[in-house]
Amino acid sequence: MSNVFGSNSIDIPSKESIWQVFQTVKDIPGLNLVEKAWASYYVYMDNDLFATGLLFFLLHEVMYFGRCLPWYIIDRTPYFKKYKIQPNIYPSDKEQWECTKSVLKSHFFVEALPIWFFHPICEKIGVSYDVPFPSWSKIALQVSIFFFLEDAWHYWFHRGIHYGSFYRIIHKQHHRYAAPFGLAAEYAHPIEVMLLGFGTVGIPIVWCYFTRDLHLFTICIWITLRLFQAIDAHSGYEFPISLHHFLLIWAGADHHDEHHHHFIGNYASSFRLWDYFLDTEAGDTAKKTREKHSKTRAELMAQKT
Ligand SMILES: [Zn+2]
Ligand SMILES: [Zn+2]
Repeated sequence: MSNVFGSNSIDIPSKESIWQVFQTVKDIPGLNLVEKAWASYYVYMDNDLFATGLLFFLLHEVMYFGRCLPWYIIDRTPYFKKYKIQPNIYPSDKEQWECTKSVLKSHFFVEALPIWFFHPICEKIGVSYDVPFPSWSKIALQVSIFFFLEDAWHYWFHRGIHYGSFYRIIHKQHHRYAAPFGLAAEYAHPIEVMLLGFGTVGIPIVWCYFTRDLHLFTICIWITLRLFQAIDAHSGYEFPISLHHFLLIWAGADHHDEHHHHFIGNYASSFRLWDYFLDTEAGDTAKKTREKHSKTRAELMAQKT
């Protein structure tokens, strides 16, 4: 029997189809449509461990490839060429297919196994999955915190794997495409997948370990938005309506495209803050500014001595 109703003693026997379960669940007062669908799914599956594992595996596949598809179509539509950051480099169908196969291999052989351990870990540290869900304001606040924490994790570990042998052994695979495209977001060595993936999956777990206040639905929202961020950052397109024009600290595609183009600088994932304050911005303009700053510093030092 599922624990999706938590301490509320609602016992709905599993039915033949999820629709039949939904017909019973829909009459429970105080639940919105998403919560009813969520509860029906867990009741129908009748095995919470398997239900969470399958949910996260499918969420990852649907959101990843679902978000990559529009970018694939945009790449094949001449109208959008004026928005391409590196307009003369397009991934061939062969490259995209090779990339898809590699990403799928990683999803099945590197990520599928840890996903099945996700539910027991969640139960142990107190991640709830019952209905109703937390308020939208709490979900928004926690997801925003995860964005900032993941960005810090990503900045330091991504910068770390650009050093010497780490780059050669681990990170070189991800830099195969100097002009990235959506599907290349998760094209990476298994060690990199685990290391940088911890920022996405591990941070909410650590957060819940200390706060004892997190819902599985919030993690679903967070992982979906983080996937969208990573895929969009690799899209290779910069539009007048791109988010960083309105939210100035947001990194976006032009930030990460420069990283792939120059192989150095712009190590953060979602925000421009770490690279700005630690002087690791990529690109010719940033290089000139850096040189100007160090020249000014040298002149000031010379005046003092
Ligand atoms: Zn890199
Ligand atoms: Zn990248």
